[in-house]
Amino acid sequence: MTTATAEALSDAARAFVASAPHKLLIGADWVEAADGRKFETIDPSTGEGICEVAQSGSEDVERAVIAARSALEGSWSKMPAAGRGLVLYKLADLIEANAAELAELEALDNGKPVTMASAVDLPLAVAHLRYYAGWPTKIEGETIPVSWPQMFCYTRKEPVGVCGQIIPWNFPLLMATWKIAPALAAGCTVVLKPAEQTPLTALRLGQLIQEAGIPDGVVNILTGDGSTGAAIVEHPGVDKVAFTGSTEVGRQIGETAGRMLKRVTLELGGKSPNIILPDADIEAAIKGSFQGIYFNTGQACNAGSRLFVHKDQYDTVVSALADAARSARVGPGLEKDTQFGPVVSSEQHDRVLAYIDAGKQAGAEAVAGGDGAGEGLSNGGYFVPPTLFANVTDDMSIAREEIFGPVLVAMPYDDLEEVARRANDTEYGLAAGVWTRDVAKAHKLAAMLKAGSVYLNVWGPSDPAAPFGGYKASGFGREMGHANLDAYLEVKTVWTSLSEAAPSAAVG
Ligand code: NAP
Ligand code: MG
Repeated sequence: MTTATAEALSDAARAFVASAPHKLLIGADWVEAADGRKFETIDPSTGEGICEVAQSGSEDVERAVIAARSALEGSWSKMPAAGRGLVLYKLADLIEANAAELAELEALDNGKPVTMASAVDLPLAVAHLRYYAGWPTKIEGETIPVSWPQMFCYTRKEPVGVCGQIIPWNFPLLMATWKIAPALAAGCTVVLKPAEQTPLTALRLGQLIQEAGIPDGVVNILTGDGSTGAAIVEHPGVDKVAFTGSTEVGRQIGETAGRMLKRVTLELGGKSPNIILPDADIEAAIKGSFQGIYFNTGQACNAGSRLFVHKDQYDTVVSALADAARSARVGPGLEKDTQFGPVVSSEQHDRVLAYIDAGKQAGAEAVAGGDGAGEGLSNGGYFVPPTLFANVTDDMSIAREEIFGPVLVAMPYDDLEEVARRANDTEYGLAAGVWTRDVAKAHKLAAMLKAGSVYLNVWGPSDPAAPFGGYKASGFGREMGHANLDAYLEVKTVWTSLSEAAPSAAVG
C-alpha cells in the first residue's frame, strides 16, 4: 500500500489492513490455510499490493463444510426462528455502526468511490439483512385439503442445508449480504467464498458475524480463487450452490449441480438494452442512461450497455452523453471527489481495453474515451475513462458481449417493433429499460422485453423486497424477496392417518 493510500484511510480501516495476513473463518476459529498458502489482494487505484490473505485449498473446504454441517444440525437448528431474526438484525446494526470503515475497505480493495460505497453499497447491505431478519418467524407450512377421508396432510418448510455461496468483486460486501441473509433466514448454514480480487470486506464481515452472536460454523468464510469455488461446488456435503458471476463459470457450476443434483441459483451476466422512445423526457433519459452504464465503472451485471435511440434524436443524445462522459471525474476510489474509480484488476483492464480495440477495428467510432487509460491516470491504476461508441452495428462484439466496463454502444432505430426485436436479440436477459411519457407504450414494451427486470423511466433501482434475476443466459432463480427465501427451503409433505384402518393406495 502506498503511503498516500495508508494516510487516506481511517485508523479503523488501517488497523484492519495491518492485522494481515488475514485468515479463514472456519467454525469458531480464524485459521491459516491447511497448506499455509496466501495471496496478495491488490489496490486497483495504484496496482500496489494491500495485504496478504489465506488461499483456501480443498482441505479447507472440507473443514468448512464439516463446521457448517455441525452448526446446521446443532446450535443453529436449535435456535428458535425469532432468534435467527434477532441475530440478523444485530448484524445489520453492526454493519451500520462500522459503515465508514467498511466503505473505505471496499473503496481500497475494489477501487469504487468511497462516497458511492457509503451511499449505495452499505445502506443496501444493511437493508437487505433487515428485510430477511423479518422472515424467519413468517416461514409457514400449509394444511392441505386432500381428498382422502380420515387423512390430515400438511407441509413444513425446512432449510435446504449447507450452502456454498460464491460471489464476485463488483459489490463485494453487498453480494455477501445478498447471499447470506436469505440462507440464514431460512435456517441454512453457509460456506462463503468472496472473489480473490476483493476479499477484505467479507473478512471484516466475518468478525461482525461473530460479534452479532451468530453461532459458530453458521457462516464460514474461505478466501481463495476459482479453484476454491470449484472445490465448494464439487463437495458432496454442499446441498445448494448460489453463485453470482460470469455466464461462463455459471454454466460450469450449473453442469456440476445438475450432475450432482444439487439445488442451484445463478445470477449471471447481461448485455441489457436501454431504449429511449421519441416522446421521452430526453434530459431525464440522458441522465439515467449515463448512470445506467457508467455507475460502478460499468461493473454491474444489470448495466444498460446497449443504448437504442430513435434516429431523429440519435445525434442529440449521443452528443450529450459524450460531453458528460468526457467531463466525468475518474480517479482513485479513496479520493472524495472521484465519480468513477478504476476497473477492479489488471485482467479486467486488459479485457475492457481489448473490447475497445475490437470496437475500433470493427469500424465503430469512439466519440468519448477509447484511448486507453486517459491522461494523468496511468500511475499504475487500472483506469478506463467512460467510453461511448457510435456507428455500431448489432453484430459487433462490443454490441453483443458483456464487457463489464465503462463502455456504452449507441444505436439508432426506426420503430417500436424493430427496437423490441433488436433489444431481445441477445443470449442474455437480465434487465431492460424504456424511457417514454406514453404509458401504453411503456407497458407494451415491458411485456415484450425478455428480461428479469424492466425499468421504466429509471435505471437499476434495487430493493430487498423486489425479485431480481435473469431470463435466458442471465441466470436461474431470483435474488431478493420471498423468491430467494424459497430457494433456501425444501417443502416436506407430512401425511397422517386419522383412522385405525390404514389406506392402501400409493402413487408416485
Ligand atoms: P467469475 O470468474 O465468474 O468469478 C465470480 C466468482 O466465481 C469468483 O468468486 C470466482 O473466484 C469464482 N469462480 C471462478 N471460477 C470458478 C469455478 N470454476 N467454480 C466456482 N467458482 C469459480 O468472474 P470474473 O473472472 O471475476 O469476471 C469475468 C467476467 O464475469 C466479467 O468481465 C463479467 O463479464 C462477469 N461478471 C459478472 C458479474 C455479475 O454480477 N453478473 C460479476 C463479476 C463478473 P475468483 O475470482 O476468486 O477466481
Ligand atoms: Mg483487490
